[in-house]
Amino acid sequence: MSEPRPVTSLRGVGDTLAGRLLALGVETIQDLLFLLPLRYEDRTRVVPLGELRAGQRAAVEGEVLLTEVAFRGRRQMLCRIGDGSGFLTLRFFYFTAKQQDGLARGARIRCFGEARRGVKGLEIVHPEYRVGPQAARAPEDHLTPIYPITSGVTQGRLRMLVRMALEQTTDRDLEDWVPPSLLADSRLPALREALIYVHTPPTDAPVDLLLDRRHPAQRRLAFEELLAHQLSLKLLRQRIQSDPGWPLKSDGALKEKLLAALPFRLTRAQVRALREIEQDMRCPIPMLRLVQGDVGCGKTLVAALAAALAVQAGRQVALMAPTELLADQHAQNFRHWFEPLGIAVALLTGRQTGKARDAALLSVRAGHAAIVVGTHALFQEHVEFAALALVIVDEQHRFGVHQRLSLRKKGAQDGHQPHQLIMTATPIPRTLAMTAYADLDVSVIDELPPGRTPVKTVVLADARREEVVLRIRTACLEGRQAYWVCPLIDESEEMPYQAAEETAAALAEALPELSLGLVHGRMPSAAKERTMRRFKSGEIQLLVATTVIEVGVDVPNATLMVIENAERMGLAQLHQLRGRVGRGQHSSSCLLLYRAPLSSLARERLAVMRNTNDGFVVARRDLELRGPGELLGTRQTGLAQMRVADLLRDADLLPRVQIAAQALLRDWPLQVAPLIRRWVGHAEQYGRVG
Ligand code: ADP
Ligand code: MG
Repeated sequence: MSEPRPVTSLRGVGDTLAGRLLALGVETIQDLLFLLPLRYEDRTRVVPLGELRAGQRAAVEGEVLLTEVAFRGRRQMLCRIGDGSGFLTLRFFYFTAKQQDGLARGARIRCFGEARRGVKGLEIVHPEYRVGPQAARAPEDHLTPIYPITSGVTQGRLRMLVRMALEQTTDRDLEDWVPPSLLADSRLPALREALIYVHTPPTDAPVDLLLDRRHPAQRRLAFEELLAHQLSLKLLRQRIQSDPGWPLKSDGALKEKLLAALPFRLTRAQVRALREIEQDMRCPIPMLRLVQGDVGCGKTLVAALAAALAVQAGRQVALMAPTELLADQHAQNFRHWFEPLGIAVALLTGRQTGKARDAALLSVRAGHAAIVVGTHALFQEHVEFAALALVIVDEQHRFGVHQRLSLRKKGAQDGHQPHQLIMTATPIPRTLAMTAYADLDVSVIDELPPGRTPVKTVVLADARREEVVLRIRTACLEGRQAYWVCPLIDESEEMPYQAAEETAAALAEALPELSLGLVHGRMPSAAKERTMRRFKSGEIQLLVATTVIEVGVDVPNATLMVIENAERMGLAQLHQLRGRVGRGQHSSSCLLLYRAPLSSLARERLAVMRNTNDGFVVARRDLELRGPGELLGTRQTGLAQMRVADLLRDADLLPRVQIAAQALLRDWPLQVAPLIRRWVGHAEQYGRVG
């Protein structure tokens, strides 16, 4: 395999242009070929001016009748053209004297742009154009691709570069890493053919199909991209599992003690997930397992029982939560479960300072703390474990592939990798899970503990606030508790908590007989923790909060959840928030307050919430409404950065992608790294096979 040729090896590409291309992720000739068009324009046909309509993007041509510089609010050049069938004005706000000369009366011009209605009939602002002999050239012989552009590189320039790249590519630049046998009877073209097609589709190409990105040429590229992502995750897994893990053998006595102390029995789904986890942990290969289950299905307990196995085997467990609030809560739960059994649980968060922190660090290093709960600070700072063998990551959609990689580095001891157990409440459809979590085995908890009554969801206009306040009073006087979640006014950091403070003050006034607490992200963590503790113990009846309580918070006596400005929140977030209620034996309600007018998307989201409590249904609708990138947490997964593929649209390719990934790893291992590099970049990070 030879080194890829840099773009600078193309004629006319110097360092300056190369620097600008870098902003598009283009370094090599091959990268240029994989810079795919966003859309296409039909310039193959010249539209007579008399047929041109406002809003139409079209190629037109004519003779210049008049060019003048005018002041209409600002200096501009107006060029009037005609073709015998009609007239058109071209308007330029930026122009040079040379351009003005070129557009002298009588010149022939061919231009392209979007026509719009102007003062004197149709006009095009800043059209792309050619004059003189250039304008007389035959119209384009294929659809014109429109590329993502960056400052300093025009569409025209890019098109030319891509063309040159296409002409000059040899098989050396463009090796097809997907063996043809893997595409047999898929009706997908070979790579080179696919690329030529997407960059220069013939005039009779099915434009609608292309615009939808459903053309076989595009699907061929999508297939390859999905394959590359799949492979990168599988390599990540191989890389982690190339080191030994700790085979944890124990008779399960500690687990049994823990179970015996519980006031309830595990659900069948919990038992099944736990059995799968235990099997993994007994092996000398590091576990990489995801436990997926709807909010409230009891994942924390499963994690605790897995922890018991590691602790009994004499090793340590780290439990990582996405927020301090959740870390506090987990620490409380784990202490409640483990301390009576003589097992120490330490808490480590980023905000801890001084003595408390030193003491916690020491107990972790010395191995006194068998279980360490914390935020990501657990793996960022100078935390040394005495004998770490299991890392539990809660609510994994907040963590991603890269964090998993860094975990691998920081968690290793004596060449051993800790087992990884990842828990997520984002229930995603199976095909999506296979792709997004290709590096993980998946256990599903598809059952809620018995005795739960489904949360009743009501959608209410904000104008009915007073009724809502009454319902809170009633619920609290009956001994229950309530949450009031405040809106995110805008993106600014200050506003959410100000809004929460104002709402809390207003509610305190309206409900003087209730004890009320407030938590928001800006509070010192000790104060937050104190308030949460008081809410948990029932001392606080109404908790006003920002969305910090979104994940994981567990207070079974709370039965009423009010969410203000629900129209601004995404489905996943609403479902998470709603999951805070309906956790005990009393029936619960979720009141979604909205401020009119509702967009059609918001209306749809609220309807989904009203109609179902099933996290899988919510997730599927969320996927349809928003796309997979958002559902999985855009930046973290890297999935949203896919160039052609779309997990939803191309879902039918996924089974074939899976088979191809296995075949490549087994039979063509040397082709894996270049394929990943082509689509995902930084293949080094994922390691190499072979
Ligand atoms: P999540 O899966 O959302 O993290 P939690 O672990 O917070 O759910 O559990 C929700 C609640 O259900 C907790 O109060 C927990 O103690 C309780 N719980 C867990 N398992 C069971 C069970 N098998 N039977 C009854 N309650 C359970
Ligand atoms: Mg949880």
